[in-house]
Amino acid sequence: QIGALPMPDGPGGGQPNVVLFLRDLTAARRLETMRVDFVANASHELRTPLASLLGFIETLQGPAKADAPAREKFLGIMKAQAQRMTRLIDDLLSLSRIELREHVAPTQVVDLGQIARQMVDMQGPLARERGVEITLEASDAAYPILGERDELVRVVENLVENAVKYGGSGGRVVVGLERTVRSASGKRQIALSVRDEGPGIAPEHIPRLTERFYRVDVASSRQQGGTGLGLAIVKHIVNRHRGKLVIESEPDRGTTVRTLLPEHQPVGAAAPDA
Ligand code: ADP
Repeated sequence: QIGALPMPDGPGGGQPNVVLFLRDLTAARRLETMRVDFVANASHELRTPLASLLGFIETLQGPAKADAPAREKFLGIMKAQAQRMTRLIDDLLSLSRIELREHVAPTQVVDLGQIARQMVDMQGPLARERGVEITLEASDAAYPILGERDELVRVVENLVENAVKYGGSGGRVVVGLERTVRSASGKRQIALSVRDEGPGIAPEHIPRLTERFYRVDVASSRQQGGTGLGLAIVKHIVNRHRGKLVIESEPDRGTTVRTLLPEHQPVGAAAPDA
């Protein structure tokens, strides 16, 4: 859209000045479509467990009223559906909070090594119960970046959870940390990767995985307790940290999700050896 406003009293020696305003309606329309889609998807995701809850409530009020074993079973299902709605609402709130802060660069110095070690220790026992071994490949050195600790914990947690959920039982998950140098600018960065030995992801899905609610297999994601928002949250956090998210996958070999984040180098300090 192009418009013009005449400004009669401008300093143009008696000539009316004109202010031109340009607005890219294609981008505005795209954003509006994305917003409408998002609300429709979120409503649908909430409506599904809600419909199931209402169905079970009616059954409990009617046919299953006097059937104690059926009541126990239905209450269990209802609890799981309510938990699913809670997870979804928590993820929606996280996403909107992170989006609000996306333009504010974090200022705390955070050691990614410490977060990665803590996540491996915390998630190891649960993964082992599912037949998955998580290991850490990193030196004992610090991996400092400027970041928001809670958000970075969320990134590692989500990536490890996905690797365990979709990596399949009997496999290994490796959390790795490395110092690298960005080839374009020569700037030092820290690569945090999570690798699994699962069935992998077909190439056509990879560019869409960070879209809200995009899932390769909706049924399998739901069964694993997924909301379809995990990688969208990760992507926003990585953006806020001026980093990059790279997903590589080979069908039948496994998936590696890598975040590349700028290394923090205190002013005047010599760069540590890679
Ligand atoms: P969800 O809550 O469904 O896990 P995510 O946004 O975290 O949502 O991931 C989106 C989809 O990407 C998942 O539903 C799954 O299909 C796919 N995915 C994510 N990580 C992996 C992985 N490590 N291996 C295979 N598929 C994955």
